[in-house]
Amino acid sequence: MSSTEESFAQDALDILAIAAHRDDVEQTCGGTLLKMAQRGYRTGILDLTRGEMGTRGSAEDREREAAEAARILQASWRGPLDIPDGHVENTWENKLKVARVLREQRPRVVILPYWKGRHPDHYTASTLGYEACFLAGLSKLDCSAAVRAAVVAGVPPATSTAPSPRSSQQSPDLTSFPPHRPFKIIYASLYYDVRPTFVVDITDQFEARFQSLMAYKTQFSDQEAGKELFPAQKEIRSRIEAMARFYGMLGGVDYAEPFVQKEVGLVDDLMMIPVKSI
Ligand SMILES: [Zn+2]
Repeated sequence: MSSTEESFAQDALDILAIAAHRDDVEQTCGGTLLKMAQRGYRTGILDLTRGEMGTRGSAEDREREAAEAARILQASWRGPLDIPDGHVENTWENKLKVARVLREQRPRVVILPYWKGRHPDHYTASTLGYEACFLAGLSKLDCSAAVRAAVVAGVPPATSTAPSPRSSQQSPDLTSFPPHRPFKIIYASLYYDVRPTFVVDITDQFEARFQSLMAYKTQFSDQEAGKELFPAQKEIRSRIEAMARFYGMLGGVDYAEPFVQKEVGLVDDLMMIPVKSI
């Protein structure tokens, strides 16, 4: 490994969750991200959009709230892209933008939204994310086109929640990041009614995960604007608790988050397989 590659690898993320909207990760895999951070892994969140279409609050409000949520989840990095809210499309340009972040952050595991769902942004983010993971590993692919596009739009390609020497704001020349393909892609499936292939026990993280969602005060606090669209906080809590309980029950624990993986599970020792059958 060259010294340049070593310096990239030093702050590489272990796990990166990619989602269409700010607050998606908090709802679908926030407990898992927090659990992994508590185990010493570097976790990150890439929000494809900035939430400007939300009924309540501005994109700036949501920026602040997203940073607070990332702090609660102990994420090492969080950044938005400039893809328009409500118009997440699987275009070549968007794939390059995501691929650039993957090369910069170098995660081993990527969490994507499940590939079916009610909201087009969610299922499109899934395909877009998968194809970007593939592209990021192609040695002949130059992501500089995406960087130029982001600069033209007047938006920094991604911002870090904490100042970092690898922050893209300080280093606009991202063409120097070497190719990178994540080892594992898993799909957070909580938004869709599908049987998960595994669940992650978040019993100890459930409360903090709920607080990370409540950090989006403009979206979730009890208020008049958009009242018919947004359930009150108590109602949200009971829904979130019911979902986490349900997936927890499938795994034999109190609270859990569901995931789907496309690959089969590999077992080494039959005595160590968790979850009781009978
Ligand atoms: Zn969403």
